[in-house]
Amino acid sequence: MSTEAGRAGVLPTIWRGVRLRCPACGQRTLFRAYLKLSQSCAACGADFSRSETADVAPYVTIMLMGLIGMPPILALALNAGAYAEMLLWPALACAAGLALVLLPRVKGVLAALLWRARREM
Ligand SMILES: [Zn+2]
Repeated sequence: MSTEAGRAGVLPTIWRGVRLRCPACGQRTLFRAYLKLSQSCAACGADFSRSETADVAPYVTIMLMGLIGMPPILALALNAGAYAEMLLWPALACAAGLALVLLPRVKGVLAALLWRARREM
């Protein structure tokens, strides 16, 4: 790993995690499958073998889903009147889609921050 590649600030590290990119160089993906971290970056060699986030990513995703997803669903449910039941399944489908989009990004941010914290130890 070049010295320049691993010296990004906290915000670029977070942004690279959101984009599912290597926290060190941002050139290659952090994942080898939907939620499986790569062992290392193919471009810069950054080691991700100790950046596994365990169950924290799903917990944070559930928390974000509650903060982001519940207010519009509750507003729809309270204001839709007779149409509330018709809106239930599309709202649940949107919530499931949002969770599937958020989960790898949350894991990417957590793994990037964990990689950064271990690099500085
Ligand atoms: Zn890299």
